[in-house]
Amino acid sequence: MRFLTGLKSDGATELSAAAGRRGLIKGGPRVGKGHKDKVAVITGGANGIGQAFAKRLAEDGVHIAVADMADGRETVKLVEAAGRDAIAVACDVSSPDSVAAMAKAVQQKFGRADIVVNCAGIYPQLDFAAMTFADWRKVLSINLDGTFLVTAAFVPGMRERKWGRIVNLASSTFGSVTTGFAHYVASKGGIIGFTRGLAGDVAADGITVNAIAPGLTRSPGTLVRKPRPGFADMDEEFTAVAGLQAIKRVEVPDDLVGALSFLTSDDAAFMTGQTLNVDGGRVRS
Ligand code: NAD
Repeated sequence: MRFLTGLKSDGATELSAAAGRRGLIKGGPRVGKGHKDKVAVITGGANGIGQAFAKRLAEDGVHIAVADMADGRETVKLVEAAGRDAIAVACDVSSPDSVAAMAKAVQQKFGRADIVVNCAGIYPQLDFAAMTFADWRKVLSINLDGTFLVTAAFVPGMRERKWGRIVNLASSTFGSVTTGFAHYVASKGGIIGFTRGLAGDVAADGITVNAIAPGLTRSPGTLVRKPRPGFADMDEEFTAVAGLQAIKRVEVPDDLVGALSFLTSDDAAFMTGQTLNVDGGRVRS
């Protein structure tokens, strides 16, 4: 009765307080459909978009494994502050051995992974005239091979449990005119193709595979990269790209978390093989 009364006056506060008293998730009222006590592996979760994803899924009720070459302890603290368990595992997603070791650590800590978010990625701006095969291979091996390796490590467990969510990071660059990113755009095109192809292979086991395509987003990675030719610095490039969007402000990682929450929920069970453009309305497809 007190619970219902609380909902009338201030439902969010009351539910949060109730959840807190029971030692449950601090994001109480926002716990997503099907998220509670699931386990997500988020590659690239130490920074930027991946870190925002980890925080949001934790608030939705998910335990998080951060798989990143960088130190993931800050993300672990954010997840724990939301009342969920977390580990940070040092992992180079382009290395089969490193991914195997990471999968073992996740298995030891949580016993399973229900959600995989392939967010680790690099985007070095480089004119094609200067691009070597080694430059090409590096971007393809981290962005595309890494997506394959991490997905392949966790799909067997998802198949056994007949439930899984895989979300890959594409990019608006695949649907717009860019310069200096031939290797990167190729890797993201590959990720969209992988998303479509894999969706059919795993659908019968209750696993969905989708992608999110962000626009140019202010993150630690984009803040330090070389601007595209014609722009003095990244601030100038951020502003110019925002001007190409229907919503004319610079995208930030938090703009992407709602799409991830939906795609990893039970509500998205009938949606697979898709790429969602979350870019302020820049790319239409
Ligand atoms: P970021 O550089 O801020 O963070 C990327 C993270 O990936 C870092 O923590 C880094 O340590 C990690 N990482 C890099 N190589 C790795 C490897 N080999 N193994 C494991 N971890 C590795 O980047 P971000 O801007 O947050 O981008 C995240 C994802 O979103 C990337 O896949 C990127 O391509 C995609 N994306 C970003 C933008 C943007 O404008 N920021 C736009 C479209 C798509």
